[in-house]
Amino acid sequence: MTIKNIITVPDEILKKISEPLEKVSINEKKLIEDLFETMYQSNGIGLAAVQVGILKRILVIDVSNKDEKKKPMSFINPIIKKVSDETSIYEEGCLSIPDTFIEIERPKTCEVEYIDLNGKIQNIKCDGLLSTCLQHEINHLDGKLIIDNLSKLKRDLIIKKISKTKKNPNRIVV
Ligand code: ZN
Repeated sequence: MTIKNIITVPDEILKKISEPLEKVSINEKKLIEDLFETMYQSNGIGLAAVQVGILKRILVIDVSNKDEKKKPMSFINPIIKKVSDETSIYEEGCLSIPDTFIEIERPKTCEVEYIDLNGKIQNIKCDGLLSTCLQHEINHLDGKLIIDNLSKLKRDLIIKKISKTKKNPNRIVV
């Protein structure tokens, strides 16, 4: 397994639409393992392939509590089939937008169809944190970020701040 580099704003790849998969091969299974490794390492609860620079409709999620057993879930070609009228609000962060939290209102529950690791079509009804997290990650596959709903001014300020504080361990001054 490999820990991948997580891409952050303002990288243009984050705005691109990811491609659906035709079949699940050993390469995708490896990628999913790497996504989990990368997500756990960064203490995230969800990660989409585009966030490590791969434009495939793949995402991983684990919304288990820290003291609970891990519950890794992977989704290939996920499609939102149904959402509730009722909404909920979470303060959301994003591994591609470090140190930024934004209140986002989304449908409280959703039904999602996806392909599992064995290439089988599955359906899941989600509520609570899982529902919000899954909707956030599916947004990534469509090139949408949580800062997209902010005014341009606010968005630019956030991106400017991130670009400034971005750590660059390879940078040397001689
Ligand atoms: Zn995100």
